[in-house]
Amino acid sequence: MKFNTKTIHGNQEHDKAYGAVMPPIYQTSTYAQTTPGGHKGFEYSRTHNPTRKALEDALASIENGRYGLAFASGLAAIDAVLKLLKPGDEVISTNDLYGGTYRLFSKIFENFGIKFHFVGMHNVSEIVPKINENTKLIWVETPTNPMMNIIDIVAVSEIAKENDLLLAVDNTFATPYLQQPIDLGADIVMHSATKYLGGHSDVVMGALIVKDRKLADKLYFIQNASGAVCGPMDSFLVLRGIKTLHVRMQRHCENGRAVAEYLAQHPKIEKVYWPGFESHPNHDIAKKQMRDFGGMISFVTKDSNYRDAIKIVENLRVFTLAESLGGVESLAGHPASMTHASIPKKERERSGVVDALIRLSVGIEDADDLIADLKQAIG
Ligand SMILES: *Cc1c(COP(=O)(O)O)cnc(C)c1O
Repeated sequence: MKFNTKTIHGNQEHDKAYGAVMPPIYQTSTYAQTTPGGHKGFEYSRTHNPTRKALEDALASIENGRYGLAFASGLAAIDAVLKLLKPGDEVISTNDLYGGTYRLFSKIFENFGIKFHFVGMHNVSEIVPKINENTKLIWVETPTNPMMNIIDIVAVSEIAKENDLLLAVDNTFATPYLQQPIDLGADIVMHSATKYLGGHSDVVMGALIVKDRKLADKLYFIQNASGAVCGPMDSFLVLRGIKTLHVRMQRHCENGRAVAEYLAQHPKIEKVYWPGFESHPNHDIAKKQMRDFGGMISFVTKDSNYRDAIKIVENLRVFTLAESLGGVESLAGHPASMTHASIPKKERERSGVVDALIRLSVGIEDADDLIADLKQAIG
């Protein structure tokens, strides 16, 4: 089955009770048993829920994995992965991470005795010197947020395999439409389904997809034991979102290209970060591992500071000033004061998140209206 068919039918069956084409929202916490243990595979909704199960099966299908797990948020999904570790273990992670991931690693899991090394993985040679006998996990985000660095997943997976390490890839920005990390050698794919998978800015959810049975069992155990699961209504919404993922992504990519090209020729723009440009330092890797380049773009205007960047995002009318990304509507954000405010300024600027940086999540509106809006806001 090809990707565009998998988004709609992958691992899906029609409802057994009445033939409902969409899985019903099983809004129930528990399931009747005829005798203790006599049930139809569902006992309690933290452990299993039929609507969540349908979503988890769809997730496994679109990421070319075998097992899917859905969580209450993207961070809850990451939290579950980190709970595979124990005190003394070490993690090597991308340095320009999603701010919330950085906060979870450095402010929560450091306290539990896990050590993190944050490296610029677009240069994979930076990884090996950090590996020692305590290293257990490599955490990759690509494209990175918000600098749009591209990390060579195949190259990192070779390092992970040679050293017997788990490789997890946050695939939130790319989505399986653009890249499928399991096929590139990753053990775990993670999503903030809040973003492109949901696609309509109406739900917060996280997901993990794996191929290996033993790893899946460990993660299912953590999912049930820690309990950060998503509800049936949210499962239904994300399952619905996935059915249009491929058509939305196609338009996100087209509009992303149009907006990136407009910004690149604008006389007031200093720099545009978008992996589709041949001048992007990792364009070749992006071309190799991604089908297209997506709708996430960051840019800096010339000679500008914190105030100037804030003014531009306040001036936008079609783009909404908001956190988050990946919905049908275009959003603009100011990472230094919003998504990345939890990262110390010095550390932030080292990876390029300067005060003047603006991040766009280009939606699926008409590209002409998006460009006109940027034109009036930048001046
Ligand atoms: C939003 C996001 C997360 C966190 O997901 P939540 O659903 O907000 O908990 C993690 N990684 C990336 C790349 C994100 O954009």
